Amino acid sequence: MAGSTEAIDFEALFAAAARVQTFAYAPYSRFRVGAAILGDDGVVYPGCNVENAAYPSGSCAEQGAISAMIAGGGRRIRAILVLGDGDELVTPCGACRQRIREFAAPETPVAIAGPGGIRQMFSLAELLPASFGPDNLRR
Ligand SMILES: [Zn+2]
Repeated sequence: MAGSTEAIDFEALFAAAARVQTFAYAPYSRFRVGAAILGDDGVVYPGCNVENAAYPSGSCAEQGAISAMIAGGGRRIRAILVLGDGDELVTPCGACRQRIREFAAPETPVAIAGPGGIRQMFSLAELLPASFGPDNLRR
């Protein structure tokens, strides 16, 4: 089951992700990914993947979008969209699922898109069940 999607402009998220996907720095994989977050402040924060010649030093699109949100003053993720090319669903990698969890509730919608638009909706809980999050460290 996908999370609550009321009053979320997924077309705006798709447009933002599509724009930054074209700017992605992916000279090695040539696999460009764009992401867009709707923050709790109503602002759309985009991010794209940035590869590095020292491969593990590269960063994911979701990571860039989270950094943009935090730097822009947003604190919570209301929704996130990830856009990639190819036949397979471009879902967030395991590390990014955890990064998203830091700022999003389990029911937060995660839209997975391809060039033609949204392909599938998930809740974060579907992608990262029984997750460990900030609440685990609160007493
Ligand atoms: Zn990732």
